[in-house]
Amino acid sequence: MTDHTHADTLRTPIVAVLGHVDHGKTSLLDTIRGSAVSEGEAGAITQHIGATDIPLDTISGMAGELIDPSDFDLPGLLFIDTPGHHSFSTLRARGGALADIAVLVVDVNDGFQPQTEEAIDILRRTGTPFVVAANKVDTTPGWNPQDGEPIQRSMDAQSERAKSMLDENLYEIIGQLSDAGFSADLYWRVQDFQKNIGVVPLSALTGEGVPDLLTVLMGLSQRFMKEEMAIDVTGPGEGTVLEVKDERGFGATVDTVVYDGVIRNGDTVVVGGQDEPIVTEIRALLRPRPLAEIRTEKEFEKVGEVAAAAGVKIAAPDLDQAMAGAPVRVVRDRTVDQVVEEVKAELAEIEVETADNGVVVKADTLGSLEAMANALREAEVPILRAEVGDIAPRDIAVAETANQDEHKAILGFNVDLLQNAESDLENADVKLFKNEVIYQLVEDYERYVEEKQRAQQ
Ligand code: GDP
Repeated sequence: MTDHTHADTLRTPIVAVLGHVDHGKTSLLDTIRGSAVSEGEAGAITQHIGATDIPLDTISGMAGELIDPSDFDLPGLLFIDTPGHHSFSTLRARGGALADIAVLVVDVNDGFQPQTEEAIDILRRTGTPFVVAANKVDTTPGWNPQDGEPIQRSMDAQSERAKSMLDENLYEIIGQLSDAGFSADLYWRVQDFQKNIGVVPLSALTGEGVPDLLTVLMGLSQRFMKEEMAIDVTGPGEGTVLEVKDERGFGATVDTVVYDGVIRNGDTVVVGGQDEPIVTEIRALLRPRPLAEIRTEKEFEKVGEVAAAAGVKIAAPDLDQAMAGAPVRVVRDRTVDQVVEEVKAELAEIEVETADNGVVVKADTLGSLEAMANALREAEVPILRAEVGDIAPRDIAVAETANQDEHKAILGFNVDLLQNAESDLENADVKLFKNEVIYQLVEDYERYVEEKQRAQQ
């Protein structure tokens, strides 16, 4: 039974895709985008900045008999394009995760792996509802594809050998979910997807089972958005910065996922900045043009407004100091000062504790900076300075002021050394560590300190 009275207030749920490396996150996103595009006329997908929007009619076109669109108040699903639990756990909205729901991709032959466990921990901690995509069913020996069939029927149609092989692998995953404290089952046996985790066997390669996954996601979101979200999609826009980018003709811009309200061209916005919140006026809201048009026209199309949930590029003066991961808030109904205070309060939650002596930390987003700071605190490594952004000459100068030799170090997470800082680094007595995995970065630093101490004895 669907209650339509709140139809206006349900916005598109934001979906993140997580899982172990090589289990098929990127392929799954590509397949979802690809089959949505080939669904064609029905509405196709809208291209976004950093996210892909699949409208309800496209989903129902893809899902065929599995879905009755009149059962849903949701406009569709918005997939965050960057897969992985790093982007999931470090992208926030009002202190929680930016994504409302998640797809955990598990290679059906490989089962749980370290990053699967990590993803589960994060999902549990953030209380994010999720669905498991048991990927790569097509690799089951003897698998016989059944085009366009729901996955349950496809599985029934396999040889006994393929069936028992697949069953064994799927029950292994269900067992591992149970060990992790989640009651899970094959999705067609699940009644309430918030209480029990639905496991959807599928293949990102052939597309089998993908419509089933979308159907389950719609069911889960509908429930969740109704119960958990009091969203006013017409209110002042709120979003999270994914990336700060220089764009020819526009200067510094921020790629933003809008998770609440409406952002309009000309709005005054407050954006979290390196030092102070930035107050500025939107000069243009930009969306990528359809790929086919890009060759002949400008890459972006200007739009008058976007409503949550959506990805959009914001062009405005003074955005060069904006921080990835920081909040974006439209000033409407309130004073600029009130909104600035709100942004400050939100940033203060992520403030990193620094000491008079220690290492310099640079990270790509605010959330990852916080994750780095937590890891270093656990390892009892003091931090002299922590900032979002690439490694600049100033960081090297700051690291050099550390008064203990072992601390003259910069730890860079998912960032680059700027070209104009290369010679500074060569001439400085500062050690640079760079990595895309937090615990490895911390371990590398600890090993370096140990070796140094040993050499001194
Ligand atoms: P990610 O690291 O989780 O993003 O994984 P990718 O999407 O890059 O996939 C890793 C590898 O597995 C690639 O070689 C894919 O082609 C392959 N792959 C992904 N999904 C499937 C699938 O459903 N079936 C098969 N046979 N291969 C797949």
